[in-house]
Amino acid sequence: MPKKKGNACSRCGKPFVGLIAAKTVAIMITIYFCAVFFFNLLVLGDEWLQGQLSFLEPVIPFGWEYIPISLVGPVIIMPIIMGIIVPALERRHAMGGALACKDCQTLIRKEQEAAVETAKAKEEAKAYAHMAKVEGLENSDPWLGKLIRVWRLDNPSKLPDETMLEELIMARNMEKAGNFEKAAVILEKYRF
Ligand SMILES: [Zn+2]
Repeated sequence: MPKKKGNACSRCGKPFVGLIAAKTVAIMITIYFCAVFFFNLLVLGDEWLQGQLSFLEPVIPFGWEYIPISLVGPVIIMPIIMGIIVPALERRHAMGGALACKDCQTLIRKEQEAAVETAKAKEEAKAYAHMAKVEGLENSDPWLGKLIRVWRLDNPSKLPDETMLEELIMARNMEKAGNFEKAAVILEKYRF
């Protein structure tokens, strides 16, 4: 049986023996029924030829009834192997669109969990840095600090986002420069 992509772990290349065996059995059964069909067709009504081929008898039975049997056999057996057994074996190895062996499935699952953890930690670090920035502005700049405190009272359990902080800093700089009108436009946006 040639080593095909679907018959081995997509990660470590370990072959799926059960799957290969099931497919091999399916191919062998097909070949066997083909042989039974072919030889029975050949010797039908030809006793001399049947005598010549009698050495095949232990493996391939001769008789007219084996012609329909060799045709119906695969029709019954093939759907069972290829339609039930092979998909069931494949499902056991299925992992996110690819096939993986048990060891690799455990590894892949662990990697996915680790990736989720890392993403979560990054997200938390980012949130913490943002909070530190907001608190830093609150404490270091009385004008901004007052605005942020008022906003946080109106928006409990929320933090001003990056854009808002930048715009507030801009408004403060405008006020310092005497541009009160533009500063007022920004402050109005945040209902100050
Ligand atoms: Zn593997």
